[in-house]
Amino acid sequence: MRLSNWGYRADFYVYPVLIAASTSATLWHGSWRSAGQAMAAGVIGIFVWTALEYALHRWVLHRVQPFKRLHAMHHAHPGALIGTPAWLSAPLFLAMWAALGRGASPALAGGFITGMMVGYLAYAALHDAVHHRRARPGTWLYHAKLRHACHHRDASHSEYGVSCGLWDAVLHTSSHPSPPPGRHKPPDADARGRRSWALPKDTPRR
Ligand SMILES: [Zn+2]
Ligand SMILES: [Zn+2]
Repeated sequence: MRLSNWGYRADFYVYPVLIAASTSATLWHGSWRSAGQAMAAGVIGIFVWTALEYALHRWVLHRVQPFKRLHAMHHAHPGALIGTPAWLSAPLFLAMWAALGRGASPALAGGFITGMMVGYLAYAALHDAVHHRRARPGTWLYHAKLRHACHHRDASHSEYGVSCGLWDAVLHTSSHPSPPPGRHKPPDADARGRRSWALPKDTPRR
């Protein structure tokens, strides 16, 4: 949904606080062994986030109403302050933490959710940078901008991963740099995308 400047930036204040709080809460009373378990669960949480990010983007934001309509606003206005507000996403992570805590140890549940929130924050920061920051050709950010530009350019049939291209590679939805033949229609959104959002000049075209 369309957000105010403060609402759009809230993720970058709320999540560092939540991550610091969940890390402290997870490690405070634990042993070295449980700290190790929490860190391993955190790494798994980050990894699971990348899969969830891909799945939500591909199968929810592009298919299920009303999310599809809200996400279409971002595709139509890529530079606008549109996103998921922190007041909606943060309680979902906390609810997930509470649910996991019923079955898993505090170290595993806390470590996993902390990892998920780190993944979410990285996603939010990268998606913001991809749309609103300049990057020099050849840098990692520039490559991320190219991949995401392909998603916007391709009328949303490829490059669903923002944080990383892993799941696009695994599930054959990569279009950058070498698209699978015949998988994507020539994008009629290309010209609109280039006008409304400065695609990197070397975004591959078909
Ligand atoms: Zn985008
Ligand atoms: Zn999309």
